[in-house]
Parts: sequence; C-alpha cells; structure tokens
Amino acid sequence: MSKEYYTTIGLEIHAELNTNSKMFCGCKNDPDEVKPNVNICPVCMAHPGTLPVINKKAVESVIKVGLALGANIADFTEFDRKNYFYPDIPKAYQISQYKYPIVSGGSLKGVDITRVHLEEDTATSKHDRGDYSLVDFNRCGVPLMELVTEPVIHSSKQAGDFGRELQTVLRYLGVSEANMEKGQMRVELNISISEDPKVFGTKVEVKNINSFKAMERAAEYEIKRMSALLDTGEGDKIVQETRGWDESKQSTFSQRKKENANDYRYFPDPDLPKLFLSKVFDIEKMRSELPELPEARRNRYRNDCGIKDEDIESYIVDKELGDWFEKVAGELKDKNKIKIASNYITSDYLGLKKVNMEVGLPYVKNFAELIEMVVENKISSRGAKDILAMIVIKDESPLKVATEKGLLQNHDEGALKEIIKKIIDANPTVVETYKGGKENAIMSLVGQVMKESKGSANPQMVQKLLKELLS
Ligand code: ADP
Ligand code: ZN
Ligand code: MG
Repeated sequence: MSKEYYTTIGLEIHAELNTNSKMFCGCKNDPDEVKPNVNICPVCMAHPGTLPVINKKAVESVIKVGLALGANIADFTEFDRKNYFYPDIPKAYQISQYKYPIVSGGSLKGVDITRVHLEEDTATSKHDRGDYSLVDFNRCGVPLMELVTEPVIHSSKQAGDFGRELQTVLRYLGVSEANMEKGQMRVELNISISEDPKVFGTKVEVKNINSFKAMERAAEYEIKRMSALLDTGEGDKIVQETRGWDESKQSTFSQRKKENANDYRYFPDPDLPKLFLSKVFDIEKMRSELPELPEARRNRYRNDCGIKDEDIESYIVDKELGDWFEKVAGELKDKNKIKIASNYITSDYLGLKKVNMEVGLPYVKNFAELIEMVVENKISSRGAKDILAMIVIKDESPLKVATEKGLLQNHDEGALKEIIKKIIDANPTVVETYKGGKENAIMSLVGQVMKESKGSANPQMVQKLLKELLS
C-alpha cells in the first residue's frame, strides 16, 4: 500500500480563437476546412519580405477572457519571437508573448491564473504515410490563446472541473468553440507529488491529452507512477520531462527531457508594433458588456427555479438548452410546473436526443402546453413521453397529438368499466390467482386494461376499479 503524497497540478491550456481571419494575415481561419493548404498566403507561409499585421479581434478576445477571470489587463503589451525549428513552423519561430502578456492574475473556480497570452498556432503534420510526412498549413497562424494556472490544483477532479469551467466560459464569451476532440482546446498537465505540502516535488508535463476525462486519468496515472517510485526510494527516477498520454494504453510515456525558456531565445518581434491596450480598447466598456457567465447563471437558476444542481449543470454546459429552458420557465411561471418541466427536459428530452440526431428543441409553446397537460392529469406520464417524442421532431400541438392518438386520459368510469369487465372475463386464471391471495397478479390486468385503452386510462383509476370489481 502506497503512502499518501501531496499532489500539485498546474495547467497550461491553449484555445484556438474563432476569429474570421488568422492572427497576422488575412487568411481564413476555418477549423472545418478539410482540403489541405488552401487557407494560406505568403505571410503565414513565411515568404521573404512579408510583414505580419495584428488581428485586433484576437486581442479583444483575450481581453474578454481576462475580464471574465477578474484579471489584470496589461496596459503595455508586446509580441515576442519564440525560436525553434520544426516543419510545422515555417518562420522557424512562433510569434508569442513572453514578458508582457495581455492578461495576468485572475482566478476561476478558486484556481489562480498566472497569465493569458496570445500567440499563433502551428501547422498540422501527418505522419501516417510510412516513409514520408505531410504538412497542412491551414492552421498555421490561427490565433491561439494560452492560459497558464498557478500550481494550486490538488486533485485530478479539481483539474477536470477547472478545465470544463474554462471551456464553458470561452463558449459563453463566444471567443472559441473550445472543442477538445477537434483540437480547438488543448491541455497540458503539469503534475508533481511530494511528502511535504510546503515543498514541491519534481514536475512532469503531460501532453497529447484529448479530453478532460483523459486529463483526469493521466493525472491519476502519474500520481500512481510517482508514488510507487517514492515508496521504493527511487525518487531520483522522477525527472523533469515531457510525457505523452497514450489513450489506448491509458498510460503515459516519456517523450523528451524538458527544454527551458533560454533555449527559445525569446526577443520582441521587431516587425510588430508595441501595444498600449487602453489606447486601443475601452476596457471598462468591454467589462460592462460581458455576457452573463456560467457562475452567475448557475446562481440565478439556483435561486429562481428550485431545480436540482445536476439539472442546472445540464443548462450551464449546454447554453442553448439553458436559453430555451428559460423561455419555457417564463411561459410556465409556476415553480412546481418548472420543476416538472425540468425533469422532462433533463431525463426524457436529453435521452431522446442521445439516440436520435434529428431530435431538436421543441417549440416553447408546444412544450409548455405538454407540461400543462401533465400537471392537469390530462395525459399519463407514458403518454407525455410519447407526445414529447413527436414534438421534438415536428411542430405539433401536444393536445392535437393526444387527441389523435387517443392519449387523453379517460376519466369516464363507465367506459373504463366496460374495458375492465372485458379483461376480467378474458383472464380467469389471473383473476383466480389474485383472489387466491396473490395481490400482485392484479398488475397484469392493469397492464392489459392500459393497453386496451391505448394508454388513455389513468393507471391509478384502473387499479381502483379493478379492485372494486374483483371484491
Ligand atoms: P516551465 O518553466 O517548466 O514551463 P513554469 O514555471 O512555466 O514551468 O510552469 C508551467 C506550469 O507548471 C504552470 O501551470 C505551473 O503552475 C506548473 N507548475 C510549476 N511547478 C509545478 C510543480 N512543482 N508541480 C506541478 N505543477 C507545477
Ligand atoms: Zn495567411
Ligand atoms: Mg513555462
């Protein structure tokens, strides 16, 4: 059994900004372009004699992120060259920011942020061809923000929570799709363990992480790996290095020993102007125009709607769903109705959506009408589910569907009794079993009556009438 060690994690998170054009040229920034090397020009291909021009929208996006984090927005900022050679970086340097990032400080979910800076993305390489590789420059020069946290995260779960919240914030701000599968958001995990919480252990950096789940697993894997080494007195085998996450093996492997900042020969890019942000942007106006952020929305739902935290989270993560839910709530007004609506949304609607791509949000008025019918007992919950399955595909009135499909609950005892008598006559053995003391046998009769009534009967009433008729 391993000793308990103290875990320290810091994250470096890149996100592609969804500007129309690239960071320093007019090329289209299109993450969905599948044809290689079409969104390229002499600037992003590093032809001699070309000059970069700063994309104002990208700078504005990073300022928004800073404001959302409650961070400091730099007055003075500049771009630096980070020099290294690799086929995906045609200039042999990446334009990034070193000493003067646009954003510093701030926090999110209790995690302190070191900085957020702006840089350009690299090209993508394909190494799946056997004896040669291909490079696609469509992504080369796309605006990329990098956020660095302080080493203040202490569990894999806290790291996952932070990453997911940042993803949601970026989406609410509308600055990035932040889709991890598409590589629009990329996480590097820095992790160390130590016996003494006051002393940092040697950290490793884990790359190639393509989901938050994978990040959490990579953190757990590293905690185990390093704990085992410390346990057996082999702590010197923990070296500062870059490791890769192997999704198929669910483990990490050593990639390379870490280079340090000196190796990159950072220096201010002489081709770009220095920026005095407050001269270009009205920061206070931008602050006042920020959209509602996830945490504010969460609190509002908690106070106003009386729904479960778990349901709230579905609306926070899926903003479109949340916006729609708010319209439904506005229509229903009553807290109890809103609660019932929320149950149908988070269990039934989301369930339908999972299995059928065609399912979309129903019209607010249709969905509200459906909930009213449930509340007034006009339809059974079974019937409501059937109607829901219709109105998520077509604009139809639930009342009309219920009428056409005979789903309106039959409160007419006379008609129901006729059906019940018929079922009793047709099932003498079941009736005998029930009369012999097996009370549960009645459920098979209830089921048959419900079927015969095409679901229009109220099950409680069926059971009550059956018991009366059988006594
Ligand atoms: P490097 O110079 O190796 O890039 P930085 O100081 O720039 O290291 O930090 C990179 C990331 O690693 C940051 O997110 C930081 O919070 C985190 N970090 C730094 N030291 C540790 C540590 N001992 N354990 C875990 N994370 C750390
Ligand atoms: Zn270009
Ligand atoms: Mg660093």
